[in-house]
Parts: sequence; structure tokens; C-alpha cells
Amino acid sequence: MIEGVAAELNPPVRILLGPGPSATHPRVYRAMAAPMVSHLDPAYLQIMDDVQAMLRAAFRTQNRMTLALPGTGTSGMEAAMANLLEPGDTIVIGVAGYFGERMVEMAARYGASVVRVDAAWGTVVEPQRIRDAVRGAGRVRAVAIVQGETSTGVLQPIDEVARIAHEAGALVIVDAVTSFCTCELAVDAWELDYVYSCSQKGLSCPPGLAPISVSERAMQAIHARGRPVSNWYLDLTLLEKYWGPERAYHHTAPASMTYALHEGLRIVLEEGLPARIARHQKHAQAAQAAFEAMGMPLAAQAGHRLPPLTTVRIPEGVDDVQARGHLLRERGLEVGGGLGAFRGKAWRVGLMGHSSTAENVLLVAGALAEACAAQGVRVDAAAGSAAASKLLFGTA
Ligand SMILES: *Cc1c(COP(=O)(O)O)cnc(C)c1O
Repeated sequence: MIEGVAAELNPPVRILLGPGPSATHPRVYRAMAAPMVSHLDPAYLQIMDDVQAMLRAAFRTQNRMTLALPGTGTSGMEAAMANLLEPGDTIVIGVAGYFGERMVEMAARYGASVVRVDAAWGTVVEPQRIRDAVRGAGRVRAVAIVQGETSTGVLQPIDEVARIAHEAGALVIVDAVTSFCTCELAVDAWELDYVYSCSQKGLSCPPGLAPISVSERAMQAIHARGRPVSNWYLDLTLLEKYWGPERAYHHTAPASMTYALHEGLRIVLEEGLPARIARHQKHAQAAQAAFEAMGMPLAAQAGHRLPPLTTVRIPEGVDDVQARGHLLRERGLEVGGGLGAFRGKAWRVGLMGHSSTAENVLLVAGALAEACAAQGVRVDAAAGSAAASKLLFGTA
């Protein structure tokens, strides 16, 4: 062996209560150990068909182009910008957090002219402001918005943004990386043109795939491009030949990840989307009640809080990095630190997928109180636990 390299791979078992990844479901680990087959094996093609059928059910769509891109959620974002934008196109992007900013940066790299609609971190982007921006922007190719802004804990209303885009003859792109399989999302009913997500948040699989669903209207726009998509790997006109009846080789599919996604989707559909969404809401509300009872204010606008991800203000006198270090060291528990405007000011508590349990609500509330106490700052853990238990178990 090489000196300094551990004799054995031995990552710790963590309690993953941050912005992702969430806890991988034990059934998903088992699925990933299934035998390797090639990307054109008839058995694998059948698995792809099954994954597409389940993704359509989860996205609530009939879109033919519903598939899983190789890469994490960001590859879904990259593919949106690469395929739907040509240099000089105008895109209107709602920006109220880190992931809205990332879309702006990506769209600009593909040569688009970006019209930003900014809102304060912790708030939604008011649809009326998007309408005004679209009206003032001339010919608009696309409107893009993040449904679940994981940096702020805000759930953005989407259906009205889609209507605004279509009134202007523009396509609508939705980042559902955190909201997919955790929040209400209806691709066909809301007429969304391009929606992307990831495998490691609401689906509780490891990171590595980006489920997407693309409308026929968007595919027509891609086929009508003046020049080829400049990103070969994520070119949907090539990918549709692999996922469609032609089955033309494009890349060696990450089969074990596809097995994981297959099992993850089966678990989602066994539970049922309405029950799953309700579970996320219930546990988020309990966690939020706990934090407020502990005197820790929530950082997201009331009425628009994102069930899978709660942002909570770090109490005065508590050092963020030290506290999260304490949680990881003493409890094996991970919560997220703040990004951008929330850096050092808020924690991001994820209760996503398999991590969204009543036990984890109580665990994280108590653990945060303990991490504060370790720095000499008292928050009322008992009040937090009582407030959460009342919502979780109906106990007084
Ligand atoms: C996590 C996240 C992303 C990025 O996904 P990766 O899987 O980290 O590439 C994009 N948008 C939102 C809203 C996210 O929460």
C-alpha cells in the first residue's frame, strides 16, 4: 500500500440533516450492489424504461423526454441553459438565493442576455415583478425560477410564473432539485417546459443523477436552434436518441446509479406522492415550531417555508463553524451552514426523503440546543421538544 493511505475505506455513518445528501435508504444501497450490465443490454434498456415510467409518475407528466442525466442536480441546470439558450437570447431569471445566482452565471456563460428579478434572501420573487420584467424585456426566450431555494428555505410559487412565461411566448425552466418528491409539483398541469432535479435530496439516493422532464414545446425549440448545442455531453438531441427507440450509444450509462434511482422511485411511489408531501410538511412544521419555541427565529418568509429545508437564525453569541463541528464530532450529525447572505447567520436543517422522520425532528432540535449550550448560550430545549411533540404526536 501507499504510505499514508488508510488500509481500509471507512467513512463514518452520519445522520444527514443538511441541505443534501439526505440519508440513503437501505433498499437503495442494496439495489446498487446488483450485477453490472452494459448500457445497451436489453435488461438495462428495460430498467431505463421502468425509470422513465416512474419519473413520469413522480413529475406528474406524460413528457416523452423524461429521463435521468448523468451528473448531479447541477448537470440538469447546465443542460437547461445549454439546450434552451443561444447567444443573444434573453432569459428572465428570478433570483432570491444562491441557486438563482448560479442560474444567472450559467446562462451568461452560454451567451444569453440575462434579466434578473431580484428579491431579498428569505423571500419569494413576487410573480407580478416577473411579469413586469418579462413585459419590459422584449422577446424573451425563457423564464427560469427555483421552486425550492435551498439556500434560503423558501418555497417559490411556480404555476403563476409558468403562466407569465407562456403569455409572453417564452419557455419556463424550473429548478426542482430540492422540491421534487418533497413538495407539490405538477409538470403537465402547470405546463412547465423544463424541470430538473437530483437523486440525493428528496429521492434519498446517492448523488450522481439529474432527473429531468422536457416538454414537446421545449424539444421543438431545441430542434429549431440555429447552431448545435455547445455542450456535447448534455445535448438533448443526442440524448433523445439513446433514451428513445433508436437506442444509439451516447455515453456509458452509470448503471449502479440507475439501479439506485429505480429503487428510490419505487419507494416514493409505494408511499404515494400525497402522503410523502404531507410527511415532509408535518415534520417541517414540527421542527419549525421547535426552533421558534427555543427562541430561534426562522429565516424564511412565513407562508412560503420550504418543507424539506428549514433555515433558522443562529443565536447571538454562537459561532456557526464551532457549533456544526460539535454536532458532527459529538453526534455524527450534519446540518448545513449558511451560503451567501446567510453565511454565519443561519443554519440549514434538511428533513428530506428518508431523513424526514419524527425522531430526526426531536434529535436535531435537542442537538442544536446542546451545541449552543457548549458555547455557553442557553436555548430552551424542553420548550422546543414540547412544541414539536405536540405536532408530531398530539401530546400536550
Ligand atoms: C442542491 C441544489 C442544486 C445543485 O445540485 P447538485 O446536486 O449539488 O449539483 C441546485 N439547485 C438547488 C435548488 C439545490 O438545492
